[in-house]
Amino acid sequence: MTSNSTPNPAPAPGGPRPPLDLNPRRDPPLDFPDRELGEMTPADYATLGFMAGLEVHQQLLTGGKLFCRCPAGRRVTRVDAEVLRHMRPTLSELGEYDGTALMEFRTKKEIVYLLERNTVCTYEMDDTPPFPVDEEAIRIALEIALLLGLNLVSELHVMRKQYLDGSIPTGFQRTAMIALAGTIPFRVPGLGVDRALRIRQFSLEEDSCREVSDVGHRITFRTDRLGMPLVETVTEADLLTPLEVEACGRLLARVACASGKVRRGAGAARQDTNVSVAGGRRIEIKGVSQHRLLPLLTHVEAFRQLNLLRIRAELLRRGVRHEMLEVPEKGLPWSQSPLSVEATAMLRRSDYTPVREALERGDTIAAVRLAGFGGLLARRTQPGLSFARELSERVRVIACLPARPFMIHSDLHDYGLSPAEWKAVHKALHADAGDAVVVLWGPEEDVATAVREVLARGRDALVEVPSETRQPYPDGTTGFERILPGPDRMYPDTDTPPKAIPDAWVAEISSRLPERPWVREERWVGLGLNPAFAARLAAVESAAALFDALSPAAGDMARRVAAEVLKRPARWMRRRGVDPAQAAERLAPVLAAFERGAFRAEALGAAFERTLLDPSVTPATVVARLGGPEPGDDELDARVREAAMACAAMPRTPRASALRYSMGIAMKGLLGRADPRDVYARLERALRALPMEATP
Ligand SMILES: [Zn+2]
Repeated sequence: MTSNSTPNPAPAPGGPRPPLDLNPRRDPPLDFPDRELGEMTPADYATLGFMAGLEVHQQLLTGGKLFCRCPAGRRVTRVDAEVLRHMRPTLSELGEYDGTALMEFRTKKEIVYLLERNTVCTYEMDDTPPFPVDEEAIRIALEIALLLGLNLVSELHVMRKQYLDGSIPTGFQRTAMIALAGTIPFRVPGLGVDRALRIRQFSLEEDSCREVSDVGHRITFRTDRLGMPLVETVTEADLLTPLEVEACGRLLARVACASGKVRRGAGAARQDTNVSVAGGRRIEIKGVSQHRLLPLLTHVEAFRQLNLLRIRAELLRRGVRHEMLEVPEKGLPWSQSPLSVEATAMLRRSDYTPVREALERGDTIAAVRLAGFGGLLARRTQPGLSFARELSERVRVIACLPARPFMIHSDLHDYGLSPAEWKAVHKALHADAGDAVVVLWGPEEDVATAVREVLARGRDALVEVPSETRQPYPDGTTGFERILPGPDRMYPDTDTPPKAIPDAWVAEISSRLPERPWVREERWVGLGLNPAFAARLAAVESAAALFDALSPAAGDMARRVAAEVLKRPARWMRRRGVDPAQAAERLAPVLAAFERGAFRAEALGAAFERTLLDPSVTPATVVARLGGPEPGDDELDARVREAAMACAAMPRTPRASALRYSMGIAMKGLLGRADPRDVYARLERALRALPMEATP
């Protein structure tokens, strides 16, 4: 199957207006030193003008997809058919503002979709119009919106959001606003945060394809995930430190999970985070799948922006101007501009392996001069990465040069080309020490694109932080993904009529709304837990559920039970395949016995462990073994003597370890009945009295 598509009509005028993407503070603190995440205080981030927001995408737990009746959540690897497409934006889209379309066009990508017949139909492939919106998905979305306390829309209007990377075959994503503008309490005792967080909007939308590979000019997607319902929660840029970004992600996840109707596990929730610093611009890092990566990613991005602003200041000081970095848009740059030369002949005897291999392949080698950039390509922008990486990322994504590496630059002294070769290239370009020179190799047409991209990135360096989306890497750095995503280009979907949301639905969902996470934490604080501890408990859902299922009495009992459930029960429940409700059922009689005073508090941990780890032991047995009458002096002394003898059998053991070891032996039969402090005191006395060199 092969088809061409020209999907995207121009966006309708009067659509949603772009949010301002410049940081409101225009005074970058250029002298602020680069620091590690752990070395920064909230005040430091305030000095930087750090601002961030989150967009959380959460898949809903429905049986079917959003706009067709294919099943949702089925991950497949079988391929029944392949569809090949080329994205060819129409002329109207190549207007001067549509940088994304232009970029996707320049990449000349071939897009392959792998289809498996049970998980995809003609709707996803844009051959039939959408079915009515899945009602289950609407109800779950309404529930989460109500949990967030947002203002619901009265009518669902399906819109098309432009998607040009090929991950949606139609070139747009269908999305419907569910609710607007609201605030939720944002309390993180560990960070000293207690304020409101603004939610900007909340939508229901269809998921995109899973990317399988992206090699050269060919990108391959699987379509099983395509069209699955998800909700998108967009916050305002209210987050003031990287750790707040993570806390916010976790909070929104807890709200979604409170509904009990969202998908869990790898890829079920993905966040985009936008970051800016003073003088910088809102840059979006797309598709972060783990909350714990958010702090480092946003921290590194903050300093990337600061470093780009430093480079800009230096370029302006050197008098570098836009027009010094321009080549004609069409044709081979080296035949039209003195900024570029073809260097194939110059380097034909090079010893540098990548260049030698390029020559053997018959690649074109070109060099380009970045006037006034001398030394700046080696400037650090991210940990372990220099400004040159900004150039190579753009070239990799847009020109799709197949070789690795595909470029080298003159700020890497004594590397790659020989001094004589560098000299020849510089001479051909009329470059001097104040300039930087980049050499690239690959197929001629791609190298031409690459030369233009290097210069384009050079020009962008003069205009603060270039607008782009970035992809996250596990080490906390990010890489260029896409130019100018700008505002979401949205236009009405003429295939789907507006759908009124029945008041009865809202009333019914409101009447059985689960407890909100912050209300739950307040309730725990009311039971006597301190707020920081309540926050820790909230962070481990299975422990929190067990705590609630046990519904301990307020005060000491609540604090003891909370401390125990946070220790290890989550792991035990997982190991035994037991859910919190089942675990609570087994633990209830044990706790009741504890409340009646059947055993002492020190034994509570052992009681949890024995009850949850060994289903063959009845709760009554657990209680019987830990409880019993308080031991008299005779029993205590007998057990202590026995323990001390065992200790004496190891004469060369240090005293502290010997004490710890014998304490374990003594407590074996006493746990739950005797005061450990009393046993310890007796044991110390016994050991002192014992001739340590004696052997039994
Ligand atoms: Zn379908």
